[in-house]
Amino acid sequence: MKPFALTDILRPHILALTPYSSARDEYTGKEGVFLDANENPLGSATDGSYNRYPDPYQTAIKEKLAPLKGVRPSQIFLGNGSDEPIDLLVRATCQPGHDSILILPPTYGMYEVSAGINDVPVIKVPLTPDYQIDVPSVLKAVQPTTKLLFVCSPNNPTGNLVDREAILTLLENFSGLVVVDEAYIDFAEMESMTALLDQYPNLVVLQTFSKAWGLAALRLGMCFASEELIRILNKIKPPYNISAPTQKLALLALGRVAEKDRMVADVLDQRTVLHEKLLASPLVRRVHRSDANFLLVQFDEPKAVFDFLIDHQVIVRDRSKVTLCEGCLRITVGTAAENNRLLEMLKKYAESVTTTF
Ligand SMILES: *Cc1c(COP(=O)(O)O)cnc(C)c1O
Repeated sequence: MKPFALTDILRPHILALTPYSSARDEYTGKEGVFLDANENPLGSATDGSYNRYPDPYQTAIKEKLAPLKGVRPSQIFLGNGSDEPIDLLVRATCQPGHDSILILPPTYGMYEVSAGINDVPVIKVPLTPDYQIDVPSVLKAVQPTTKLLFVCSPNNPTGNLVDREAILTLLENFSGLVVVDEAYIDFAEMESMTALLDQYPNLVVLQTFSKAWGLAALRLGMCFASEELIRILNKIKPPYNISAPTQKLALLALGRVAEKDRMVADVLDQRTVLHEKLLASPLVRRVHRSDANFLLVQFDEPKAVFDFLIDHQVIVRDRSKVTLCEGCLRITVGTAAENNRLLEMLKKYAESVTTTF
């Protein structure tokens, strides 16, 4: 392992920054007459009471989440979607116009967008044709000013898990942070990298409540990292970044892990059925192996199929122009009824083209 010191990769002004001290930072007791935060003492202009600011550190959620993930509460940061920790990591480490991030396309778009917003250059090392990391090329492309390396596993839009050994090699040989985005980990037969947090101080793991937990509308992302890095993220986040209704509903969900697991099992069953049925379609050239809740499917005529589906109100994602995803549509695994509707429309399209010619 290369020597790693977080202080070497943080922007100096972030290290020196004095964070905003909120009313709830200065008094953390639960009982009392609260005249310190300029809240409305009478209640809310809605059902339920939302007149008090929420817990800035989401203590109750972290206490429930920590044993579930095998980490300590102090190794957890919660954000307004995963988008928030992605942005905070870029801002904490990358000097605009100077430091860079490294990504492995084709991959999730937010890494590049976050870098772009912050005027941070992006180094791209494409995945291999079988969607794995070209480790020698990555290590060659890394600059002394490269602060973050984003690995998405299972990867979006390709759907596959990335080889664990490759990620470990990057952790051992890259002196910045390796951010492993595990948004789809619940759908994969793979242990989370969170088990390695104490071993690798340069490891950051992202997960989300948006996919397996079925809570995309809440906007709640998880970031697992060293206590030292979590302290920095807490220092630069907006003080009350997770709303009270979100905290309340996330806590409720965390009490229903079996329900989440049941939904994941259902989706996995549907993934198998959909994979087989798509393969049987004459329109389909290839269905990529998926470790996620979507399938990357190669068609002979992706654009025409995409448009036909849209015309019949079946909406999928067109990735056909993306390098290494040529001809592919990304299809989320839906309910049995939704998947059947998709398959029905594909059949209808296939019939319409055979009668035309
Ligand atoms: C869906 C997704 C996320 C989740 O983003 P949220 O902001 O938490 O909803 C993160 N990473 C990847 C790769 C995704 O596909």
